[in-house]
Order: sequence, then structure tokens, then C-alpha cells
Amino acid sequence: MQNDITMHIDKSRIEELLSLLQSKQNIVILSHTNPDGDAIGSSLAWKEILESKGHNVTCILPNRYPYYLEFMPGCENLIIYKDDKAGSAKRAIKDATLIFCLDFHTLSRLDGLAELVDENQTAKRILIDHHLDPTEDYDLMLSYPAASSTCYLVALLIENIWSSEAITRTMAENIFVGMMTDTGNFAFSSVTPDVFRMVSVLATTGISIPDIHNNVYNSFTEGRARLFGYVINRKMKIFHNGKVACMSLTADELRRFWFQQGDSEGFVNYPLTIKKMKISAMFTEHSDFIRVSLRSRADIDVNIFAQRYFNGGGHKNAAGGKSFMSMEETLKHFENSIEEYAAEGYI
Ligand code: 5GP
Ligand code: MN
Repeated sequence: MQNDITMHIDKSRIEELLSLLQSKQNIVILSHTNPDGDAIGSSLAWKEILESKGHNVTCILPNRYPYYLEFMPGCENLIIYKDDKAGSAKRAIKDATLIFCLDFHTLSRLDGLAELVDENQTAKRILIDHHLDPTEDYDLMLSYPAASSTCYLVALLIENIWSSEAITRTMAENIFVGMMTDTGNFAFSSVTPDVFRMVSVLATTGISIPDIHNNVYNSFTEGRARLFGYVINRKMKIFHNGKVACMSLTADELRRFWFQQGDSEGFVNYPLTIKKMKISAMFTEHSDFIRVSLRSRADIDVNIFAQRYFNGGGHKNAAGGKSFMSMEETLKHFENSIEEYAAEGYI
């Protein structure tokens, strides 16, 4: 296991954060497009603690979260920018004195929201994140790529600034979702002994781990189960000596299985259950682009691959990006890119 991140959290940054929070602030918390359990969990827990300290807090997401995360406490108060006819997101960003960016490393992952953020040149920007290579200028950066999730970082910050006792049961539920989903159920190499200490802190608040697990992993639709069977059986293509798998779903195929946003989440992990497999890729057609999801085993780096070939990024073993070509061209481009990447010794 790696060294614990707690040893590396910079005390001076925590003090700087605390000093920014001394007086009442208008706070906006932003997280990334296609928000996942870590994005929502960290936003909601951070919102709850900041509100309890008397700040005005608005959480904004570029687009909707998947239906199976609707159980997360407080998620009904998240503003979805894409559906925000009343202009609440715009107003909140304009009036913000502090803008927290959680669980993403580049403003381009905010889609249209990035322009609104740019219009507010007075608010201090603070990053709390665990992705590699943060790009924009922030007034305060809490960037810890070794951390297994942003939820874990938020929990550490709450402990360091206030105390473990400040973590309520609802905060714990939200934090646990992100810690569990971003670590593949506490199985990835990013998991450290301190992650388990934190789980113990969360469990002490009375959360039900089996209920959370069921809500996240056993609450899908029938369409999703059938779509999964279809994509594995009919669409999985294996090449490069059995070391690379790719799957694709066109808009038409998604419609046939009553697709709802989030239904294909996790599919990309499945080919890596095959012993020899090194890289798995999933291509999902959206209205104006193809979403690319990449996963890899241990020493193979898909973050670099996503940056180079699909205008994306992420983590070493889980990355993503976009393609603006047709599905056929995208799949061809993927195969060619794999050959090039392998020729350079990356695979
Ligand atoms: P997923 O495959 O679950 O959508 O994404 C896996 C990881 O890849 C995410 O945690 C995120 O860091 C990264 N990622 C996904 N899509 C993009 C993208 O379009 N751009 C960048 N920079 N990173 C992405
Ligand atoms: Mn995350």
C-alpha cells in the first residue's frame, strides 16, 4: 500500500482554506459533467459542512446524475445547469465570493459552465481534487492525485479543519458513496490503511453500508441488465493478442434497450475480468460526440492514451475522452492508436 495522503496534506494550505472561511461567504461548489458518486458525494458533504458553519452554498453540476444515485441525501438541492431555466446557476456564480471545484482538474470538464466561471473574476477559486495534472490557475490548490477519491479528501479536510465528530450521518453516507465507487469497492491500489480508518469514522455515524451498497450497485433497470448482456455477447471485440478489448453502443442500440443516463456505467470494467486483458475501452454514442471510457490494469497508463488520442485524460487506470468522428472511424482510430501505443512500448 502507498503512504497515506494524511502525511502529505499541507498544513499551510489547510490554514489558508480556514482563513478564507472565517467570515460568511457566498459559495458555489462545482463538479464535472456526467457526475458520478464521487462528484456528487464530495459536493453534498462539502455543502453540508459549509452550511453548518453559516455560509451560503449552492452546488451546481453541468448535467444530470444517473437515476440510481437519487438516494444520496440532499441531491434534490443540486442545481443541474442544463435544466436550469430559472437562471439560478448563473446568479449564484455571479454572486459567489468563493468557487470550489471538486473532483475535476480542468474547467473544460464543465462544458458551458466554464464561461460563467470566467465572468466572475473576483471570486477566489479553490480546487479539491485527485486527478493528475490540474491545468487552470487556482488561488488555492488541494490537488492530491494519490488520493483514492475526492470524497476521502473532503473527509480529511473536515477532520483537519474541524474534527471527525463534525462528520454527520448524512455527510458520511455521501462520502462513503464516493469512496466506495472510486476505489472499485476498496480494491484499487490507491487504497491505503488510512482509507479504512476513514471508513471506520464514517461507520461510527450509523450509516448502513449494505443499504448504500444495494442502492448503488443493485438498483438498475431491466433494460440495463439486457443491454449489458448484449454488449458483452455481441459487441465486445478482442484484439492485440487478447490484451485489448473494446465495445461500442450506437444511439440506435441504446434506444432499443430503453437507455437512461448512467445505464452503461461500469460496463467498461468487465473485460478486465479476463485474465490476460490489459486495456478495455467503451464507446457510447451521444447526440454530438462519442463518449470514450478507458480502463487498464496496473502498470498500463490510459491517462496518457486518452490525452494523446481522445482529447481527454483522467487517472492512470481510468480515463476518458471524446471523439467527434463517426463510430466506425472512432473504432478504427482506436485500433490504430493501440498499435502505435504498443509499438512505443506502453502495452
Ligand atoms: P469514466 O470512464 O468513468 O467516464 O471516466 C473515468 C475517468 O476519466 C474520470 O474519472 C475522469 O477523470 C476521466 N475522464 C472521463 N472523461 C473525460 C474527458 O472527457 N476529459 C478528461 N480530461 N477526463 C475525462
Ligand atoms: Mn473522483
